[in-house]
Amino acid sequence: MQADFQVGAAVSVGRGDIPVFRVLAPNGGAMTGPGTNSYVVGGQRLAIVDPGPADPAHIDSLLRVIGGRPVDGIFVTHTHSDHSPATALLLNWIQAPVIGLPVPEGSRQDPSFCPSRDYHDNERIALDGFSMRLLHTPGHVSNHLCFLLEPDGMLFTGDHILEGMTPVILPPDGSMKAYLDSLRRLEGEALQALAPAHGRIMDKPQEVIQKLIRHREHREQKVLRALAALDSASSLPALTERVYDDVPAHLLPWAQRTLLAHLIKLEQEGLASQTRELWQRVPPA
Ligand SMILES: [Zn+2]
Repeated sequence: MQADFQVGAAVSVGRGDIPVFRVLAPNGGAMTGPGTNSYVVGGQRLAIVDPGPADPAHIDSLLRVIGGRPVDGIFVTHTHSDHSPATALLLNWIQAPVIGLPVPEGSRQDPSFCPSRDYHDNERIALDGFSMRLLHTPGHVSNHLCFLLEPDGMLFTGDHILEGMTPVILPPDGSMKAYLDSLRRLEGEALQALAPAHGRIMDKPQEVIQKLIRHREHREQKVLRALAALDSASSLPALTERVYDDVPAHLLPWAQRTLLAHLIKLEQEGLASQTRELWQRVPPA
């Protein structure tokens, strides 16, 4: 692990006038890379982005970095267990509004998460000398938000865009179509840097976004080719092996869920169909 990814240490990652510190949670792994990045934003008064997993050691680290300064908002990109559960624990120590979207109905995501009110796409939350604009970016999950730090143009991307790994799309709540739409939407924003929930800051946002879109399009082409090559209808595991022949075996269960997201998108577009969990290419009319 790189020296700048030390659990619990506050690393300065700001790219403009507003101080931004990254605090790494002790939950590194296959799906989290070095671990979850919590961000502490601001000078005299703060905003926290993605408090992280419910880990007392991480709460201690965050409280140390906060250092008694008032917190004007806890911003939560989404409610997976490595992002939101620390919110409830932090609220034992500090008072702050909780900004995020409610847990999707029927999902088994963080039951402790409770936003302070209804929040809306494009809403701007004014803070001490800066603001955060909420961008609804469904895809990875339906209740995903990115937060744009203004005026510095740093976008906190949660799991929408990661560094060093590709976000998984988890149907039925996650949607490949929504994911691509959410990526394309960011092409229209004035971004200076991307601050992901896992991995390092990325300084060429539009290049990264273009690359991600191309990666998904490429994978979709591969799915269509695999469907065409297999003459009978195919199971998800059989297709996964073919479409993700470049992915290490331990990640295949996740790849399989993302493949399902691709197939559902193709089904919506009339390019694939399924019968009893066997998938086939819809012949062009
Ligand atoms: Zn997630």
